[in-house]
Amino acid sequence: MSRQTSGGWVRVIGTGPGPERWMTPETSAILATATDLVGYAPYVARCPERAGQIRHASDNRVELDRANHALDLAGEGRRVAVVSGGDPGVFAMASAVMEALATGPVERRALDVTVHPGVSAMQAAAARLGAPLGGDFCAINLSDNLKPWAVVEKRLIAAAEAEFVIALYNPASKARPKQIFDAFAILRRVKRPETVVALARAVGRPDERVTLSTLAEADLTLVDMATCVVVGNSDTRLIDRGPEREPWVWSPRYVEG
Ligand code: SAH
Repeated sequence: MSRQTSGGWVRVIGTGPGPERWMTPETSAILATATDLVGYAPYVARCPERAGQIRHASDNRVELDRANHALDLAGEGRRVAVVSGGDPGVFAMASAVMEALATGPVERRALDVTVHPGVSAMQAAAARLGAPLGGDFCAINLSDNLKPWAVVEKRLIAAAEAEFVIALYNPASKARPKQIFDAFAILRRVKRPETVVALARAVGRPDERVTLSTLAEADLTLVDMATCVVVGNSDTRLIDRGPEREPWVWSPRYVEG
């Protein structure tokens, strides 16, 4: 059971999609004053080293434990940054912290907990591509670690039929190599083969690779855990920039009535 001791806090932050310049100044300031960092090891590793700061790096699938640990530490008076990649509210730790508050001891709700926005992967990918998310869009997490695959299928079909541009997060991993193929098989039943598809990998990092293609022809073997897959709607189009440059991707904000 945590006791509130003055001075303790939890700041739920996201480091952005990779490079430090895409981390907000507010997030940097929190990292500079936290006594403890709690998060998935690769995200904690991205934070600048600070003498005296304790790093509680953990494995990927223990989000609720991690959130509970952060709240316990804050109850002991520690200043705890809970670290995600991208934005902490997009398929990340803010939800786990809320779950810990919703399901844990009610006294903990008096703790000083705040959530701070970050740049999400789909925003970084969209900026590289042009304006693929300029109209209505949605984000779907393809991982079925936390929900049945049948739910993913249903949402893919609904999003495709409703003409949302779709940003797919967690499209593949070593443990789940097949799901992006299954997802595309579903999308191909609903959407036109020439639909614009962008495989935006490691955007902003040294190993960035952005590949433009179509729903019919996209090479899904290029998709990995560092990729955000953007699937256009039927208004999404390419703007040619000549042979030297990749075309821009544009989804108009208007829809012809
Ligand atoms: N909270 C994060 C998302 C966590 S889920 C955010 O807001 O971005 C992790 C997924 O994010 C990855 O599987 C990948 O789909 C996407 N992602 C994270 N960083 C990325 C980057 N630099 N380029 C492309 N996709 C990225």
